[in-house]
Amino acid sequence: MLHMKGPLRRIDVGDRTTTTEPIDDILEEFIGGRGVGTALAHDRIPFDADPFGAETSLFFTTGPMQASQMSFTGRMSCTGLSPLTDGLLSSNAGGFLSRNFTAAGNAAVQLTGASDVPLIVHVRDDGVQFETVPHLAGALVPTVTDYIEAEHGLEAEHVACIGPAGENRVRFASIMTSESRAFGRGGLGAVMGAKNVKAITFDGDETLDVTIPDLQMDVHREAATADHIMKRQGTTSMTDLGNELEALPTRYFSERSFEGAEGINGDAVESKKYKKGTCSACAFACKLPTRDEETGIETEGPEYETVMAFGSNCAIDDIVDVMRSNEQCDQLGLDTISCGDTVAAYLHSVDAFGDADLIEETIEKIAAREGIGDLLAEGVDRAHAELGVDNWTVKGMEFPAHDGRTLNGQGLAYATANRGADHMYSTFYAYEYPLVTADKAFPPEGVDADKVAKLVTLENMRALEDCGVVCRFSRDMMTPERFAGLFEADFETLLSVGGRVIDLERHFNNQRGFDRADDTLPYPVDGFEAALDRYYVTRGWTDAGVVPDGQLAAE
Ligand code: SF4
Repeated sequence: MLHMKGPLRRIDVGDRTTTTEPIDDILEEFIGGRGVGTALAHDRIPFDADPFGAETSLFFTTGPMQASQMSFTGRMSCTGLSPLTDGLLSSNAGGFLSRNFTAAGNAAVQLTGASDVPLIVHVRDDGVQFETVPHLAGALVPTVTDYIEAEHGLEAEHVACIGPAGENRVRFASIMTSESRAFGRGGLGAVMGAKNVKAITFDGDETLDVTIPDLQMDVHREAATADHIMKRQGTTSMTDLGNELEALPTRYFSERSFEGAEGINGDAVESKKYKKGTCSACAFACKLPTRDEETGIETEGPEYETVMAFGSNCAIDDIVDVMRSNEQCDQLGLDTISCGDTVAAYLHSVDAFGDADLIEETIEKIAAREGIGDLLAEGVDRAHAELGVDNWTVKGMEFPAHDGRTLNGQGLAYATANRGADHMYSTFYAYEYPLVTADKAFPPEGVDADKVAKLVTLENMRALEDCGVVCRFSRDMMTPERFAGLFEADFETLLSVGGRVIDLERHFNNQRGFDRADDTLPYPVDGFEAALDRYYVTRGWTDAGVVPDGQLAAE
């Protein structure tokens, strides 16, 4: 089986020491990316760790596909203990960092400890340098990347950094790379902030000693020649469909379709797109650099989830306002989904839906933890009672679009996901809209046994992609046969790798007290409890949602 190569580089930012050690057994078992990050985190983060404590760690990883020239491979993982969910999670970012990470010669990089001054950690193939940067305290993401380019000649695609939100431990702070790409969900930016690490850079000339089968060129050619609407509108091409099917959360989840969708849909975003955008090596190029000539607002995106969170969920019907929110979040280092939903909760509490000026002001306050922003920086789960609104989260994570009240299989998927209300964990929504061919589609209603079986397979498949690392949007081209051919193993063996990643995440979270009571939704779905029972049986977990003793050792 193909797998990542290289050592684990452990970096203690407290005493500013670094070591390397071989992790070949973990690489052989988990391929790379999220699997390797999860296995390392499971062994090296204490089960009772504080997400903001020096004892916790962040693991940056990527996969063997970095050795390819194939589309869909310019991505990497960051794994750690989420201050939002309080569980273990991995977050995946695109852009160009992954290949510079690989060029620095490591399979995984662990950040542990905590620095007493703001620090940039420079990881090169010839070692690690620590740079104290007290003058960058409070700096926006572009200021950090401009500084690193000016002082070190490294462009933004070598940099992962945090903005003020991460420094201020906003529970949904992101780690930003290539300026506009985010390790977005779960607040790992706040973990980096608690370590007082403002940025980490990767650079070098190492090449990955992995040979990728020629099959890669078939995928790459198809990515280049496919006539796909995502090439024009990215994920926002979903907006009208989601709205028509009543799966577009609106006015803080009080409605499921938005009368102003036309102002924020894929056509609206495309009208502001001024050039192509992509990730490293990807000919699919679904990214969305946008600009509004009148206001001068320039950003990348918004993606569909941001269109929901800062658009329909806040009752905003002008794409330029959503672009402004998106850019604010990118510069301050905030996850747009959690931030948008939290702002929507606040607008609901003060009866101010549609107030674009208040949204702009509130985002700034959240990042600075100023005034009401200090409460909102805790996220909906911790703030909803004080705001007097419903708690629209799963495991503390705010919902994306793809409303589970309409797409019931996706609803179940939000409940079972180890990282909470996250659409990318299984992408079940694609089968219920549907975005797949009729023979693969499910009706949106219900959570029958076939959906449960499909959910388990999809979760394992998505985990496998995150080990590879292969982008979600390769789904039309990365068939099981191609996975088997590229990774040189039969598909069932590869899926079992994904299953072990899910088990490890769940086992870690079980040790922190997570169980069936956390696999819930804030709304009823017919047949939900029976589906959950089936899901646990399929996974080999107890009916309390717990990985039984011995299951990990037996795998
Ligand atoms: S499909 Fe889009 S998100 Fe995925 S790697 Fe390509 S450009 Fe990046």
